[in-house]
Amino acid sequence: METIKVYNPSTGNLIDECANLSEQEVKIAVDLTVNAFPSWSKKLAAERSVLLRQWHDLIKADKEVFAELLTAENGKCLSESRGEIDYGLGFIEWYAEEAKRLYGDTIPTHDPNGAVIVTKNPIGPTAAITPWNFPFMMITRKIATALAAGCTMIIKPAEDTPLTAIKLLAYARKAGIPEGVFELVTGDPKMIGQIFTADARIRKISFTGSTQIGKLLAEQSAATLKKLTMELGGNAPFIIFDDANIENAVKGLVSAKLRNSGQVCISPNRIYVQQTCYDQVIALLKASVSQIRVDDGLQEEFVVGPLINQKAIDKVQALISTTVKQGAKVIYGGKVHAKGGLFYEPTILTELTDDMDINQTEIFGPVCAVYSFDNEEEVIARANHTEYGLVAYAYTESLGRAFRLSQRIESGMVILNSGSVGTASVPFGGIKESGYGREGSYYGIEEYVEVKYTLFSGLKLQ
Ligand code: NAP
Repeated sequence: METIKVYNPSTGNLIDECANLSEQEVKIAVDLTVNAFPSWSKKLAAERSVLLRQWHDLIKADKEVFAELLTAENGKCLSESRGEIDYGLGFIEWYAEEAKRLYGDTIPTHDPNGAVIVTKNPIGPTAAITPWNFPFMMITRKIATALAAGCTMIIKPAEDTPLTAIKLLAYARKAGIPEGVFELVTGDPKMIGQIFTADARIRKISFTGSTQIGKLLAEQSAATLKKLTMELGGNAPFIIFDDANIENAVKGLVSAKLRNSGQVCISPNRIYVQQTCYDQVIALLKASVSQIRVDDGLQEEFVVGPLINQKAIDKVQALISTTVKQGAKVIYGGKVHAKGGLFYEPTILTELTDDMDINQTEIFGPVCAVYSFDNEEEVIARANHTEYGLVAYAYTESLGRAFRLSQRIESGMVILNSGSVGTASVPFGGIKESGYGREGSYYGIEEYVEVKYTLFSGLKLQ
């Protein structure tokens, strides 16, 4: 059988391999997903809830096994892997509960002998394609929501990190989630994407990944008019005003930026610092970044781990050299780490201007790109000057300004005085070219249902 080899990005060592499925094998898995739908969707919400909860509890009992595997295939440090598992388990727990609360409506009728009800019905068999940067949470966030709503789902995880996904499937089976309800395929992404999108029986696709592939999948899905959730790229502004608590702002910035070595769609990509506190922020940022170790993720303390692969290293390196040629200054880091391999130095770039390429490029590496600004009006316009609209961060102690930012920043999420975005209870998602649809919270489950209105007429009520 053909296989895909999975390597540890910290050591370069082979960890394991997984199947490189043929077209025919992928189609068989899709059939299983389709065939499992009628019985799964007919199950009581309470029954689906119990199975999700059992899955949650089994994973939780083996959290450390999952954390070590996640660190091995992705490179992020153990404390981050544990954090991702808690975050991902949160979705299973949340949607195990939400399954039972998928309420409909009754509407005052226009018909004197009628009644109107509105029900929410599972959309059908669904598919998902996920990236490598959150190999655990990306899967649970989609699967738990789909299953709770009564949909079945087939998943294609990223080629670099399929092992966590495969383990999640094994635990789902142990928990009693039947074959077909949660299916998983690994293999050629283009071929799998084409099968998912061309199959009219798959009624929805949830994709997390680059805007480029998201657009391709949307195009391919047009022929069967599928419902789509698109969690795509970002270009997050991180704004620090001079009225902020500067120490907290820098702390929030460093944790948001260096998490997963900066390989996060919500990573601060353009750091805007008000001129009047610029020197203070830069000094604190440099002091803070210089404290952080770069190392293999199997450490108890927070460390910046490797980038995912050589392509990622080359992209960051090329972006830094272009930015420097365009006039920026490297004041910290700026090259492959002395450890070699896929380790890159946390880097700070200053003297940036909005006309440089980096301003409109998703960095996806441990690079702080710092700009300065003069006033609120100006920085809001500059923050909005991007095709993306996933998240924006700002630090300010002014309530009025915080409110204005919440209203005027063009993004799906605005995070004020914190560097932390995600939990299961909030609607995660973007606007513009960052995509559409929401994951998490009660909004998330709405993506997996069809609203049906039924009129019962002729009831002889009058
Ligand atoms: P990517 O290249 O778009 O890959 C994402 C997934 O799509 C992977 O499973 C990949 O498979 C698959 N894929 C690649 N080509 C495909 C095709 N032609 N048809 C169907 N599927 C295909 O993105 P990435 O580089 O892995 O991830 C980074 C991007 O994801 C960034 O832009 C980041 O901002 C975005 N992201 C967004 C969110 C969000 O919630 N908005 C979260 C995380 C990441 P293989 O791995 O097998 O190539």
